[in-house]
Amino acid sequence: MIEKSGGKGPRAPQEYGIDWDARDGELNFEDRLTDTGYIPGDQETENPLRPRTFAEYIGQDKAKENLKIYIEAAKSRKETLDHVLLYGPPGLGKTTLAGIVANELGVNLRITSGPAIEKPGDLAALLTNLSPGDVLFIDEIHRLPRTVEEILYPAMEDFALDIITGKGQMAASYHLPLPKFTLVGATTRAGQLSAPLRDRFGVVLRLELYNPRELGLIVQRSAQILNAQMEADAALELASRSRGTPRIANRLLKRVRDFAEVMSNGVITLNTAQIALERMEIDELGLDQSDRNMLTAIIKNYGGGPVGLETLAAAIGEEAVTIEDVNEPYLMQLGFLTRTPRGRCVTPAACAHLGLPLPARLRADEDLQLRME
Ligand code: ADP
Repeated sequence: MIEKSGGKGPRAPQEYGIDWDARDGELNFEDRLTDTGYIPGDQETENPLRPRTFAEYIGQDKAKENLKIYIEAAKSRKETLDHVLLYGPPGLGKTTLAGIVANELGVNLRITSGPAIEKPGDLAALLTNLSPGDVLFIDEIHRLPRTVEEILYPAMEDFALDIITGKGQMAASYHLPLPKFTLVGATTRAGQLSAPLRDRFGVVLRLELYNPRELGLIVQRSAQILNAQMEADAALELASRSRGTPRIANRLLKRVRDFAEVMSNGVITLNTAQIALERMEIDELGLDQSDRNMLTAIIKNYGGGPVGLETLAAAIGEEAVTIEDVNEPYLMQLGFLTRTPRGRCVTPAACAHLGLPLPARLRADEDLQLRME
């Protein structure tokens, strides 16, 4: 259940202090179809495509099964669930999972994000307004200011706020007890979380990119909710071009549905899906123009790599954070890119996919391999 304000229906995300526009703008996500950034549908807390129960949440079996057990155990002990940290690339279902946790526990969900909590007072206001057992979801928790993080520690550990007012002899410290709550933190950068914060999460779960079969099921479920008629092979085609990410799968589905309405009486056939994806410049593996630019730049300008992240970002006019969060996880999963201490390198598979000749360094590596065999 999403926390409602004054019984007037669900709150808009802005009421929880999330500046969705700023997030999208900052990550430079505007025009990219394979964005994993938030899209208008995601902004609505009542997004109809968002699963509400574990049964509707497809894939992520490991994380799901473990969470189910922890929730069951907490419920039977009549305790609050331990704090949960979810990490993985954007668009994989972290916010969705936080909603499901609250739903399964039968408590309210409060949503906010690291950059939205600017001062310790903002966090104090959020925490003191929680009801016992509530789930507080903090997205991008690695971006919490340090001063806020420090008051979060006792809140997580002892369910209390330690506030100091005044200075010198006038200083006074207050110990304010809080209702017991569960913090669900989400991050795309587990490595950027400070050790004291990471250590305060009792449950740490990593979300993985989805396989095409799981994404196919997600696309079919979404098509049903959107009342779009879709053939099974079209669903699989969309799934295999969605970079393992449900947010992209849903986004592509909506665009392909537009093509189907104009081209094939609203039925999404394999042929319509293929034409639509081609028009959107998404190739058969789900790479878009930005991925291709990035791989081509490494091959043509840097002899296949290694090249540093910042240099690469400047060369292709992308933000380094977009490259790290959006391009790289999928390119690495495909085996097209490797990260080395000296920088990013492409693999022979990437050259083959783009139809480009192997750079000299990769040719030498292959020759050496052949000689050793
Ligand atoms: P994140 O918080 O990791 O960026 P979200 O939870 O906002 O991702 O998920 C993005 C969208 O993808 C949601 O609106 C939801 O419709 C869809 N989605 C995510 N995970 C699943 C899933 N396991 N099954 C079905 N749909 C999903």
